[in-house]
Amino acid sequence: MIRALLTTCRFDSRNADVIKVMATGGVLSKYDNPHHQEFTNDELSAIVHEASMKGRAVAAHCHGEAGIRAALEAGALTVEHATYLTEDLCDLMVAKGALLVPTLYVVRRLLEGIIGHVRHLLSLCRSLTHSHTHTRAI
Ligand SMILES: [Zn+2]
Repeated sequence: MIRALLTTCRFDSRNADVIKVMATGGVLSKYDNPHHQEFTNDELSAIVHEASMKGRAVAAHCHGEAGIRAALEAGALTVEHATYLTEDLCDLMVAKGALLVPTLYVVRRLLEGIIGHVRHLLSLCRSLTHSHTHTRAI
């Protein structure tokens, strides 16, 4: 609980408009899991309460179901990413008046970037192979 409140206060001291909380791990993170909650339900409620006392909203980074549910029940204004969103959680989101901030665009851009990089590497390797082959023939 103290960890959650300290985090909220730290952002408050920086005059943040919105407190973004990692309700779950990230999908691209190496050491955490997008299906695991990063804060307990009580901690998330404390963060939302602390933020609302200062007139700030809480944006919840959530991928997995447990974190999405916990963030919504705590009163987070937005659910960011929501990669593993279910119909049931959509109903809860509507009931709580929360907003969904999908980030599919980010994943698509990453994928395009990776594909572009792989194509570049293939082209480079073909060129290098050609050069080495040609050099050896001299
Ligand atoms: Zn996020």
